[in-house]
Amino acid sequence: MKAMILKKVAPIEEEPLKLEEIPAPQPGPKQILVKISTCGICHTELDEIEGRLQPSLPIILGHEIVGRVESLGPKAAKFKLEDRVGIAWINSACGKCDFCRRGNENLCPDFLGTGCNANGGYSEYTVVSEDFAYPIPDGFSDSTAAPLLCAGSIGYRALKLTGLHDGQILGLFGFGASAHIVIQIAKHKYPNCKVFVFTRPKQKDHQELATKLGADWVGATGETPPEKPNCAIDFTPVWNPVVEAMKVMEKGGRLVINAIRKEERDKDSLLKLDYPAHLWLEKEIKSVANITRADAEEFLPLAAEIPIAPQIQEFKLEEANKALILLKQGKIQGAGVLKISE
Ligand SMILES: [Zn+2]
Ligand SMILES: [Zn+2]
Repeated sequence: MKAMILKKVAPIEEEPLKLEEIPAPQPGPKQILVKISTCGICHTELDEIEGRLQPSLPIILGHEIVGRVESLGPKAAKFKLEDRVGIAWINSACGKCDFCRRGNENLCPDFLGTGCNANGGYSEYTVVSEDFAYPIPDGFSDSTAAPLLCAGSIGYRALKLTGLHDGQILGLFGFGASAHIVIQIAKHKYPNCKVFVFTRPKQKDHQELATKLGADWVGATGETPPEKPNCAIDFTPVWNPVVEAMKVMEKGGRLVINAIRKEERDKDSLLKLDYPAHLWLEKEIKSVANITRADAEEFLPLAAEIPIAPQIQEFKLEEANKALILLKQGKIQGAGVLKISE
């Protein structure tokens, strides 16, 4: 099979993903072999490629996988051949530890990430335990379904963690793949809430998309919105929006940081975090790590019910480096998706 393989950490501009022909994997007893149709691209892949997050090398990246069941392991019984399935970031967890038993399998010490500790979707085939694959609801094409598996599912988790109530104001910092889905979930689940969107100063495309999707106010990070958000989600890879979000939030507000790693370059911004201005009056910061299977299982049918309309930009498998460079530059509208087979 064809696969884009990462063998060593390097800046994405050096195009470190290499196209290779390798044998397709065989499913283990409880696994399924999936013929991949599409795989979304994600900021996490940039973190893995550039060394901010350590993948097990060599690795096939990609954790927003949509495909069809090609063959079943001898003990696999959840799906039939040809079923359309999705695979997300959670590739496996032990199922026995305290975190797993309490529904926090995202924090399991044995957590393995798809496309990080197990081969992912930048290839023609992959294998996964049937317990970590999900049916994809009708109504989504293979390409529009892909971003639901990470951008959508983790966005859904982040929104749950904010504790937003209907009638309140949600702030979104950064407006890429995940945020443009979260605004649609928020507007559906909390019809009386307002959503304020903060982007980089000149991101006109992102601002226009936010307005189109129902944002009640759009501005640049650092601007003062007309009212104080009750809670916020930071989707950016940098620190400045964290400080700015804490500054504009209402008393008791919670900021959820939806980013696996923050870039080092503007770490000094954190020094601006001032106790009276940013944290006093019970404001809090919480991060979101990984997802659970329940997040994906709850979110996928909800996405179909709303229905979420992910904006996508398609690339070929061979164009993965180029797509990730555009992602790094903030030049992808909505979510980037690799189209691997029909
Ligand atoms: Zn992701
Ligand atoms: Zn566990």
